Order: sequence, then C-alpha cells, then structure tokens
Amino acid sequence: MTAAWRAAPPLVPTDSLSDTSETLDPDNWDALRAQGHRMLDDMFDHIAGVRDRPVWQPIPAQTRARFRSPLPHAPTDLGDVYREFSDHIAPYATGNIHPGFMGWVHGGGSAVGMLAEMLAAGLNANCGGRDHIPIEVERQIVAWTRQMFGFPDTASGIFVTGTSMANLMAVLVARSARLGSVVRQQGLADHGAKLVAYTSVATHGCIAQAMDLAGFGTGALRRIPVDRNHCIDIAALRVQIAADRAAGLTPFFVVGSAGTVDIGAIDDLNALHALCRDEQMWLHVDGAYGALGILSPDLAPRLAGIERADSIGFDFHKWGQVPYDAGFLLVRDGEQHRQTFAAPAAYLRRETRGLAAGSPWPCDYGPDLSRGFRALKTWFTLKTFGTEKLGAMISRTCDLARYMEAKIAAEPRLELLAPVQLNIVCFRYRADDADRVNADIVAMLHESGISAPSTTILDGRLAIRAAIVNHRTDMQDIDALLSAVLEFGARETALLNIES
Ligand SMILES: *Cc1c(COP(=O)(O)O)cnc(C)c1O
Repeated sequence: MTAAWRAAPPLVPTDSLSDTSETLDPDNWDALRAQGHRMLDDMFDHIAGVRDRPVWQPIPAQTRARFRSPLPHAPTDLGDVYREFSDHIAPYATGNIHPGFMGWVHGGGSAVGMLAEMLAAGLNANCGGRDHIPIEVERQIVAWTRQMFGFPDTASGIFVTGTSMANLMAVLVARSARLGSVVRQQGLADHGAKLVAYTSVATHGCIAQAMDLAGFGTGALRRIPVDRNHCIDIAALRVQIAADRAAGLTPFFVVGSAGTVDIGAIDDLNALHALCRDEQMWLHVDGAYGALGILSPDLAPRLAGIERADSIGFDFHKWGQVPYDAGFLLVRDGEQHRQTFAAPAAYLRRETRGLAAGSPWPCDYGPDLSRGFRALKTWFTLKTFGTEKLGAMISRTCDLARYMEAKIAAEPRLELLAPVQLNIVCFRYRADDADRVNADIVAMLHESGISAPSTTILDGRLAIRAAIVNHRTDMQDIDALLSAVLEFGARETALLNIES
C-alpha cells in the first residue's frame, strides 16, 4: 500500500452511504406493491380479452417515433413508464398470444408461464453454475426430457435461446466427437476441410447457418432432395454419401427433421439412424417444434426413431407454450457434450462444498456463462398442466389443421398446396397472377387484424401458410381466416380485373 494511497481523502462522505434511497429499491414498498398488482391485473385482462382485439395492427408513425428518444438521464415515475407500456407497447406486440395468429411457428405462451417468469426475475438467479436449487430445477427438466425421448441417464441437456442455437451446438459436439477434443486447440485445420454434413432441402435455414458459424462453411452441407411428402430421400442420401467418400471426403453429420418448417414433415428417423450407424455418422434431429409431439399418444409413433438420435434440438416455446425463450439441446453422450464446451478458468474454480460446489455446471455444456432461469417457467408449465394435457393440446392443433384442410378441399375457390401432415396447412386462393394475389391477401389479413398466417414458396408457388401452434386457436379462428381469404381474394381479383 503506498503512502499516497493512504493519504487520499475518502471519495464520498461516508454519512451519505447510509441513505437507502440510493439503492434501486423503492422508498415506499406499498406504492410499488400497488403498482405491481395493477400491472399484473392488467396483464391478466390483456390475455383473457385477447380475442376481442386485432391479432396485429400496423404501428402508427408517432408510436414508432417514441422509441427513437434520447437516453433518459433523469428518473421517471414508474406509473408513467407503465402507462407508456400500456399505451404504446402492449397494443403493438407480435400478436402470437392471439388465437388468430398462425404465422411462422410461434407458441402462444400461458399466464402460468408468465407468472413463473416473474418469479424467476424476482430471484434473479444466474444459472451458469454454482450450487443452488435453480440449477437442480434445470437438471430436473434435463431428466424429464431424457424420459420423454427415451434417452439414457448419461445424456446431458441444456436450455438455450432456441433451436437455432441448439443446432449450432450440436454441430460443434459432433465435430469434436469426430475430430477429438484437440480440435478445440487446433481448429478445423486440414482434416476439418474434409468433413461433410447432410440434411434435406426442406430443413430450416439455421442448419446451413450452423455449418457456416462452426467454420465448415455452408458448402460442406449437402442438401438432399425430398419425396412428395417432403421427407428426406434416403436412397439419394446414400448415393451422395458414397460419392463423397469416393471423393476422399468424410461424412460426419446428418440432420433429420421432426416437423419441417414449411409443412411439418417428419423424416424417417429409424432409417436415418440405421444409415448413420452403418456410416458412423452423428444423427441430430431438428425437432424445433415437432419433437414435443412425443407428448401426444397420436403423434408419438410418427416420431419413432427419435429415441435413437445422438442429439435433439427443440423448443419449449413453440408447441410447449412456454413463454419465449426456452430452446433446448439434448445430447445422448453427456461426456462428449461436456468435453466440447467445458473450459477451466481460475475465477470459475469448483469446490466440493459451499456455493462453488455442484460441478459440472451448465456453463460446461454450452457457450453461455451467465444464463437466466428458463427452467422455472418450463417446470411450472410441465407441472401445472401435466404432459397429458399438453399432449392433448398438441393433438388438437393437428385436428384443427385437418378441419381446415377439409374445408379447403370442399371450397373450389381455394387449393391445397401440400399434404397436411401435422399442424401446418399450405393453400391459396385460385387466381391468375396467384402469387401476387395471395401475397396481397396475406398482407390484408394482417392489416385487418382478423388473422395472421405467413407465406412460403412451395414448388415455386406462393402459399398462404397457417401453422396452428397456439393452444387458444379454435374452429372459429379457422373459419374466420378462410372467409376473410375468400372475401379479400374476391376483392383483389376484382381490382386486378379493373386494372387490366
Ligand atoms: C423455429 C424452428 C427453428 C429455429 O428455432 P428458434 O427457436 O427460432 O431458434 C429451427 N427449425 C425448425 C424446424 C423450426 O420450426
């Protein structure tokens, strides 16, 4: 300690340190409590009354402009900030809690999940590691997912943002399984350049991105054609693997789909497993939304073979209705998983007692160190509803898709563009210039607030794509969507006729 340091005057007068108003806690807990109860009640009303509001509405320019304001230096009363939320944020959210939301693949969330999220935020646990019960809650979910998918006790699992991240991590685990942990020091080097991966043309774009981010490049991903049901063509896959071996390359990784994003196709996972076993390749399943179909007795047989995968990426925030975000990666060989990510650091030293015990920690299984308590909202959701009810809700979304398919088949002005396999219906309004007409119809549906499907391109044709994921969606929402499509379609084609 230097003399100069010793002589320095205190930077702050110590009497001011006792002033609790300098913390971020309120001076008056009763006022905060009243405000908090109001927020909670308002949000219950918001969710309970969701059907009475538009699914989505365009954001007025003044509203958007409010979120271009300067950095707030001075405090604002919580009630005023909350009013801004109520007036300018809540009305202009995505709309995926609404039963008329059928775009992309979005879960609807639940009030139970919301409450759990609030409790998790109150605890403010950092689930990167250490010995505290939130980590055990996450381990409980890992054990439950092993049970769901028939994985062994040695399998590992971890919450991540979403399946995009889970898929990237699976590529990294398969890479170190193939090249050995030495790849973590040496990088891919020469032998990495020979590794090739396979998936179907129907797989989500995040698989190609994972190959890019993992350093292989998207060129190392072979995109195999699909059959008429959009499932990977196993014979074509075999041919490609043989051709790559003949060219001196090393096939190492196959991604099967359990619910493709376009139409919900499920690959033949047993056949993929047999092929991967023969070829000594890693089988990863992208089950982002479809894997939780395992909870439905009707759908589980369609996922046969998923229990043999080396890893599965899936989201509790889609069909599982857990509030965003709650992605998950399950890996059969937990040790391989740990060896891919664990890294010693002096400041993360493990002990056998005290708060620094409990190794291995979640941070040993992925790239994140600080992590929130995603497990709590998942634990509340699984316990409160139980897997039977969740499975029945998942089945029901598929029943609704079949109801919609039947209505479309009976309506000559509409045509189906893909077989309905799960909960996704792709169709369109028949018209000249149908791509343009249907894109306009979808924009009009969004702007009307009646329904929010999205679009996709199937065989070069634009389809209206309705993915029924939300537990609140009912027959009336399907009816409302289809009658609005007919109405807007008639309006659009009348307009086109006038223009031409
Ligand atoms: C949603 C989805 C993804 C991406 O998952 P995120 O949770 O959005 O990262 C990947 N694959 C499929 C099939 C999906 O439906």
